[in-house]
Amino acid sequence: MKAIRVHRTGDPDVLQLEEVPVPEPAAGQIRVRLAAIGVNFIDTYHRRGWYPVSTPFTPGVEGAGTVDAVGPQVTEFQVGDRVAYCMQIGSYAEYAVVPARLAVKLPPELDFQQAAAAMIQGLTAHYLACSTYPLGPKDTCLVHAAAGGTGALLVQMAKIRGARVLGTVSTQEKARIAQEAGADAVIRYTQVDFVEETRRLTGGRGVQVVYDSVGKETFHRSLDCLAPRGYMVLFGQASGVVPPFDPQILNQKGSLFLTRPSLGHYILDREELLARARDLFGWLREGRLRLRIDRIFPLAQAAEAHGYLEARQTKGKVLLVP
Ligand code: NDP
Repeated sequence: MKAIRVHRTGDPDVLQLEEVPVPEPAAGQIRVRLAAIGVNFIDTYHRRGWYPVSTPFTPGVEGAGTVDAVGPQVTEFQVGDRVAYCMQIGSYAEYAVVPARLAVKLPPELDFQQAAAAMIQGLTAHYLACSTYPLGPKDTCLVHAAAGGTGALLVQMAKIRGARVLGTVSTQEKARIAQEAGADAVIRYTQVDFVEETRRLTGGRGVQVVYDSVGKETFHRSLDCLAPRGYMVLFGQASGVVPPFDPQILNQKGSLFLTRPSLGHYILDREELLARARDLFGWLREGRLRLRIDRIFPLAQAAEAHGYLEARQTKGKVLLVP
């Protein structure tokens, strides 16, 4: 089969298309013939060596397709099932072997591209809005990169939960996308001071929670947007890693809470994964949640897909197709 392989970490050109054997599922695993593959920032961190993975490896942690082989001790899936999964490395390929506990069956109305677009960003937006800080009608939240893949889903889910949403974006086009997602106010953080704007929009009180996936460029000023006892939820680092931090700052800025969550810790067991996926697929079916697929690249162009993501170009999900 064809797969993207990384033999040494580095720039996008280390992503090479190669011929490799089709993997066989072991106990508890299924093999998925992939129809759509999600591209995520974490893939770029693996490629760069920021999150170490031993080489050579096939990147990619998200995909959707059809089960075409089932290992021993798998009871929940059969050959022919339509599935999606995430959090297992090796999806930039024609086939992937996946622990059955990470896969979910797809409802008939969800196609493979939508499914591959929904898993990581949708489940992440779900745990952020429903669990890390369970938003409610009394809350105002600030969502950075609100036109991004995760950002636009988070805006929509925050609205489903009844919160008021302020979103930051870099361009006019992204402002329109964030508004369409339901943001009550959009802040062009490349043009105006987002702290002043957040304070103004909240009558000086600040927000109950900031969802920050931008990291280095926004982290410290995000703390100044919070009301006392507010939640700083740093869930990504699209602009770079946040440097070491003195916890006393949380006291000075209002007895704040800080968390650095990760999807893996919010789908700890099968029940939790299935419950989040049920909500996600249900909202998609009801039309309360809309996915935005921005670009689809052939598998062989994985390097271009990474370049596109890293150049701050994306306005929704990026996919590869084998
Ligand atoms: P996005 O679609 O949100 O793309 C990133 C966005 O960040 C850009 O569109 C851009 O929006 C903004 N941005 C600001 N500065 C930069 C920069 N220097 N380079 C690139 N982008 C920048 O991506 P995702 O939704 O896929 O992921 C966002 C972040 O969330 C990533 O860091 C990812 O690792 C993380 N993540 C974390 C998860 C978790 O569980 N903790 C799970 C999933 C994703 P604008 O131009 O409007 O500023």
